[in-house]
This record gives sequence, C-alpha cells and structure tokens, in this order.
Amino acid sequence: MTTPRHTLTFDNRFVNELPGDPDQENRRRQVLGAAWSPVMPTPVARPAVLAHARDVAELVGLSDADVQDPRFAEVFGGNALYPGMQPYAACYGGHQFGNWAGQLGDGRAITLGEVRNARGERWELQLKGAGPTPYSRTADGRAVLRSSIREFLCSEAMHHLGVPTTRALSLVTTGESVVRDMFYNGNAAPEPGAIVCRVAPSFIRFGNFEILAARNDLALLAQLVDFTIARDFPHLEGSSDEKRAAWFAEVCARTARMIVHWMRVGFVHGVMNTDNMSIIGVTIDYGPYGWVDNFDPHWTPNTTDAQMRRYRFGQQPAIAQWNLLRLAEALVPVFANEDALQAGIDRYSTVYIAEYEAMHAAKFGFTERGAAEQQLIREGFTLLHDAEMDFTRFFRALGEIPDTLPDTNAVALLGNVFYDEARRTAQAEALEAWLRRWHERALVQGRPFSERRAAMHAVNPWFVLRNYVAQQAIDAATAGDPSLVHTLLDVLRNPYTEQPAFAHFTERRPEWARHKAGCSMLSCSS
Ligand code: AMP
Ligand code: MG
Repeated sequence: MTTPRHTLTFDNRFVNELPGDPDQENRRRQVLGAAWSPVMPTPVARPAVLAHARDVAELVGLSDADVQDPRFAEVFGGNALYPGMQPYAACYGGHQFGNWAGQLGDGRAITLGEVRNARGERWELQLKGAGPTPYSRTADGRAVLRSSIREFLCSEAMHHLGVPTTRALSLVTTGESVVRDMFYNGNAAPEPGAIVCRVAPSFIRFGNFEILAARNDLALLAQLVDFTIARDFPHLEGSSDEKRAAWFAEVCARTARMIVHWMRVGFVHGVMNTDNMSIIGVTIDYGPYGWVDNFDPHWTPNTTDAQMRRYRFGQQPAIAQWNLLRLAEALVPVFANEDALQAGIDRYSTVYIAEYEAMHAAKFGFTERGAAEQQLIREGFTLLHDAEMDFTRFFRALGEIPDTLPDTNAVALLGNVFYDEARRTAQAEALEAWLRRWHERALVQGRPFSERRAAMHAVNPWFVLRNYVAQQAIDAATAGDPSLVHTLLDVLRNPYTEQPAFAHFTERRPEWARHKAGCSMLSCSS
C-alpha cells in the first residue's frame, strides 16, 4: 500500500458534537435519536479517476502529487480512508413533491470528514454513490456514470457562474456496473458506475430538522439548530433566542439569493424537495436538472414531474418559499417566538423581490428601474416566450447591440436565437418595435456601448451547461473517451468570456435533442 502524501487536517464536528446511531450494522432501518449513522463506503472493483477539479483539490488542501498518487482513486472511490476520516450517513426526512415522505437520509451519500484548510475554512468531503447505508431503503446506494458526470460538471459550472453551490472534487469510475431503469418503464439495464466527491461547508438540509420535528425529538432538534448556528453561521451574535431568529432570517435570505441566481442563468433544479434544500443556501443534489433553452417558464426537465410540473422554471421562487414554510413549521417547537419565523418568511419575499428586480434590470442593461424599464422587461419576457427565443443567446446578443441601430431589421442583430420560424415571423414586428424602444431606453441610461456591453456580459453568461452538451460528454465517456468532460471542465471555468474555439457548445439546442433522453427528458432515477 502506498503511503499517503496528503496533508489534510480533519475536524469532524458533525459526528463529534451530535449524537450518532449506536447501531454499527449497515442494514436498512429507521434511525431514532441520532443525527447520523456510522457507515463505511463499500469497496469497488477498479476505482479510476476520470476527472478532478484542480481548484477544488487546492481548496481542500490536496496537492497535484496527492491527486496523482494511486491512493487518491482508492480514497475517492471508497476503497480506503485518509487518517482522520470518520465516514457517516446523515439522517433526514423531507417533503417530496408536496407530501411528507418520512425518513429519507443519505441513502447513497457518505461523508468522509470535515477538512480544515490552511485558510481556516471548513470543507466537508462527501462521496455520492459509495454504496448502501442504513438510509438506502430499497435502493443500492450507487450512482451511474451519466448522472455522476452531470453532477460533477454542473457543480463546477454553477460555481463559476457565481451561483452558490456544492462543489465537486473528483469523478471516479468504479469498474462495476449498476442496474437502472432509466425511465421507470420496465427496461432495466446495466450501466457503468461512478462516484463523485462533493465538497461543501455543510451538507445539512431542511429535512435534517424536519425529521426530528416529525418524531417530536425536540431535544435533538434544538441541539441540531444550535450546532448548525455554531458551525455554519458562527458570525451570528446575541442570546440563544436572538441567534435562532437571526439564523432563520439568514437561511431565508440566502435561499432567496440562490433562487435569484437560478432565475438569472436559466437553471431548473428539477427536484426541489425539502431534502434537497441546503440550510446554507447552496444548490445541492444535481439530478434531473436542466437549463432553459427556448424561454418557457413552464418547462421542467424532470419527466417524473411532467404531470404536475411542480418544479418548473417559473415556479422555483414560490416552491423555495413553500419549502421554507415547511422548515419554519418544523422549527416552531424550538422557537420562543413564532414571530421570528414569520419575520424570516417575510424576509424571503423582501430579499427575493428586491434582488430579482435588480437582476432583471442588469440582464437588460438598465441602470435605472423606473416604470418604463419594468414595462420593457415584462414585454421582453413575453416576446422571449412568444417568439420562442433562446434565453441564454438572447441576453448575450442584446449586450452586443451597438449604440447605433440600422434603419431596418434591427432584429437581425440578435442572430440565431429563434427555434421556430412561424413563431419568429408572427412576432417579428412586435420584436422590432420592442428592440427599438429597448435601445432608446438603454441609451438614455447614459452608458456607452462598451460599458453597457461589459456590464451585461458580466450577468448574462456566454456558456451554460446545456443538457445536449453534457449528453455528448456522457456518450463519449461511456464509449471510453473522457476528453469532452475535460474540455467542458475548462470551458465552464470562464462562462462569461466568449471562447470562439468552443462556440459550438453555445448553439441553440439542436432538433435531435428536443426529445432525446438525457437532453430534454430526465427522471429521478439517476
Ligand atoms: P433524491 O431525490 O435523488 O435527492 O433522493 C431522495 C432520497 O432517495 C435520498 O434519501 C437519497 O439518498 C435516496 N436515494 C436516491 N437514489 C438512491 C440510490 N441509488 N440508493 C440509495 N438511496 C438512494
Ligand atoms: Mg437528495
């Protein structure tokens, strides 16, 4: 066995400060009176590193030599531990698709430990797909390569877009296959397995609190609240009650900001169950997520949700608030004053509305937000939908519109943003008129083209990880060629900078992808 050369320092507060499951056996069960269960990753046949994010390795304190060491694949494939790691699975519950689902828990996630880096930051390392835990219910604890590539790339893409998110350190193939029924239609098939190591300051979810409230385990609920405040919100001050009130308000504000970012970049999470809501307000659990191509607030990538469209793009702000209400309900017994919870919910709305409006103004290149700007923004979104335009390409193109417009056909400046010729034609006149009014208003704000362009390009990404692009990387990697994963990992590092050599990754979703599995249809079974 090789000697680890790593220099990681672990400080595993979650397992050291919160009660664990006294039962050491790794079998499915209800776990009572504990916040976590000790569980070892299940070893895999041939762990091999398919990709890793260099800046995340640096963040947690792993050198290039550590990553090159064979031990890295062993540890992040679940076959070995670095000294100081204390693997566990967390107990949580959740509301799934609007209904209380009881105990869920880390069914295929295993935290290895909490690293303290040289800057004093805390980063929890968590494997996803490392084998069964007491919370696996009827499932296998594993993850397939396609969904692991999607989670790995999207975590990093979101980070570089400036969206609060969990990060991804590594993507390790297991050399084993996993059987999945991709669309729950009776066609189960073996697929290559993989494990992603996710990294975040905290993996605590709304559901960690909900399960304790549902079981009336109020002592542990209070303990978890105070633990979360002490570890993840150490800046909060005051009496215990004051801290709890300030904490909930901050959770609400952070959640609002995260959703504003999703709406800015056209991200649809797809499974906003309360067990997939992070208490520190970062995007967590990349499953059947997607990016809006042709702008449609009703669109959801999740086929499991096709009927109700509960988690569609335009409903994400309302769902986040609904989820915060479920969290608030769970917290009632440990809050001296329910007004503090109501104040937090109100704060969600206040922060959301203010930042959403500011974000929209910035996307459209306005520095002012008067009635005229708001009217143009509203009409702009209506046209984006009615003329079936590409969300990302439209805003990027708008930023390229110069200070002087041609006398006719200014719409041509938008370039390839349309998906449907008939819908483009039907809206052509309205769009031309809107564009001229937008232009006039943008000039009135007093910023010259170069300044306006730079400001707009800073909020309107050039590159987002469209489903059809991720799918090409998945298809190639499944066929044995991971190079596209590496290429995309490079491209997504600078999503606001035009990279002409990779312009083909920013094209409108091609027709072949409109109804292809993985491109516009994904299920929870990843
Ligand atoms: P999700 O909606 O994908 O975040 O998962 C909801 C719950 O199902 C969580 O408790 C997961 O840990 C669990 N789960 C999902 N897939 C698996 C799997 N393959 N094995 C075990 N548990 C799983
Ligand atoms: Mg989940």
